[in-house]
Amino acid sequence: MQEGRIIKITGPVVEGVGIPEVNMGDQVYVGNENLIGEVIKIFNERFIVQVYEDTSGVKPGEKIVSTGKLISAQLGPGLISSIFDGIQRPLDKIEKISNDSFIKRGINILALDNKRKWEFIPTAKKGDKIKTNNILGEVQESKLIKNKIMPPPGVTGTLIDIAEKGEYTIEEEIAIIEDEYGTKHSIKMAHFWPIRIPRPIVKRLSPDLPLITGQRVIDFFFPIVKGGVAAIPGGFGTGKTVTQHQLAKWSDADIIVYIGCGERGNEMTQVLDEFPHLIDPKSGQPLMERTILIANTSNMPVTARESSIYTGITMAEYYRDMGYNVAIMADSTSRWAEALRELSGRLEEMPADEGYPAYLPSKLAEFYERAGRAIVSADEREGSVSVIGAVSPPGGDFSEPVTMHTKRFTRCFWALNRELASSRHFPAISWLESYSQYTDYIVDYWNSIVENIEWDKMRAWGLDILQKEEKLQQIVKLVGADALPDDQRLILEIAYMIKTAFLQQGAFDPVDTFCSPKKQLLMFDLIYYFYTKATKVITNGCPITRVHNLSVFHKIMRVKNSFTEDQLEELRKFKDEIDKEFEKLELIYG
Ligand code: ADP
Repeated sequence: MQEGRIIKITGPVVEGVGIPEVNMGDQVYVGNENLIGEVIKIFNERFIVQVYEDTSGVKPGEKIVSTGKLISAQLGPGLISSIFDGIQRPLDKIEKISNDSFIKRGINILALDNKRKWEFIPTAKKGDKIKTNNILGEVQESKLIKNKIMPPPGVTGTLIDIAEKGEYTIEEEIAIIEDEYGTKHSIKMAHFWPIRIPRPIVKRLSPDLPLITGQRVIDFFFPIVKGGVAAIPGGFGTGKTVTQHQLAKWSDADIIVYIGCGERGNEMTQVLDEFPHLIDPKSGQPLMERTILIANTSNMPVTARESSIYTGITMAEYYRDMGYNVAIMADSTSRWAEALRELSGRLEEMPADEGYPAYLPSKLAEFYERAGRAIVSADEREGSVSVIGAVSPPGGDFSEPVTMHTKRFTRCFWALNRELASSRHFPAISWLESYSQYTDYIVDYWNSIVENIEWDKMRAWGLDILQKEEKLQQIVKLVGADALPDDQRLILEIAYMIKTAFLQQGAFDPVDTFCSPKKQLLMFDLIYYFYTKATKVITNGCPITRVHNLSVFHKIMRVKNSFTEDQLEELRKFKDEIDKEFEKLELIYG
């Protein structure tokens, strides 16, 4: 610990002198109240600290103490089910200490409870050679998640002692590893890791495993993969929250890390109220049994918002290293970027686009680049971190800097569209503005689900119909649909069918809230089958109205909620009904 003093205070930014050995990223305590801060710039003798707590009342001349350690997250059993602030302090504890909803300053508590005992079950044995991220034992951390206890990154060697099965706190020694130089490392169940440094991996893997979300517009048209990165931009009321909840509940990620960067207090309260009540549909347990929440409360300064996404992704990487598929949702990265802008202003830096600092893109890249699927241990365990960043562009303008730069670093773009939302087409993900760059990687996966249904061809056909419809609608606006030839009117009808029967999906509909890939393929195949049959009779002169009036046309609209996941065989047979109805038309127009 070295002590210096404050010479200047500008809101959450404090200038200090008197600590010659200060390093970038060091955690410091500022002022007489020991406010938590981080060194972000160093000049000759002076240095700049961003303070994670309100600095009002702090005066020049007060002390600054450097811990000599990089600002870090504590990683160990007890993270799951917790709610933290941006610098990983457990919200329930700081509220208890503060004794009212206003958070007292200078509360320095660790993320994890050091008194709680966990049952440790050793899986490694004395004499084992412990290589990168090899597992030493397990702890049942929540009803749904087993914590795999690993030595901290970088510690390898021979296991010379390991605790017996029993109850231990995170501060008790559970193993000793002797490295190749003969140094003995005492291993506990928790360790620290600097939040701004990615945890090391053994090998990056290509993004060829889809992250199935059960949401058709995403999985079928704009899929994300395990370890993928997606941006979900949309204005207020377009469905960001509902979509994120759906992803948290239904995606096949094992663990969810939700980072709430709300600007207004009530946005955050909504998250804190809603999330703990969500039920995990797969296990029937509360979703919090496999979730970590980070909530930047409105009475914390913007600096905490800036650090929160690093705290979040560090925890995600920790569970990735155990072999889990983790999904991070950051809502919203625009508020995070605003925090950067405010800090940059305080530092009197030269602003770039719309007042954001010139390093906004590199900061965004630093965050998104930590996503990925990888081999994480010497024994070839795989894990992944997928990142889904919500963006709230002012006025829904996707050309503003945060959306534009986010697009550069994310490979999926799920554009929420206000017109769709106001016409109650949900999820309001626009099929014209959205894209996914992962499709080529997952063709084999999708094409092997149902024999004879080629997803890539179906998907391309579907997008083509939707694009053609968009063009035709321009003509329809001028001359009306009746003026179009029947083959073009069929495109309008089929596009309507794709939108209504397939793309629209009710998050609150008990059957339709989740749709398996198999059901998605069978549903889409029906639409395609209907189209091929209809094209044939229409080419032979059948009026479009006769096709439109077939009862199967309307039944296809209801397939999504009339066939459950257990009735997919019946769904497959639905084609017979289509055949039967077309038979009558084919007699005349065959
Ligand atoms: P945002 O977070 O973008 O402000 P919300 O996610 O709260 O918007 O969505 C606003 C409303 O839109 C919801 O209350 C709900 O009625 C409706 N909605 C959004 N997505 C869906 C969906 N997938 N299914 C059904 N309703 C939806």
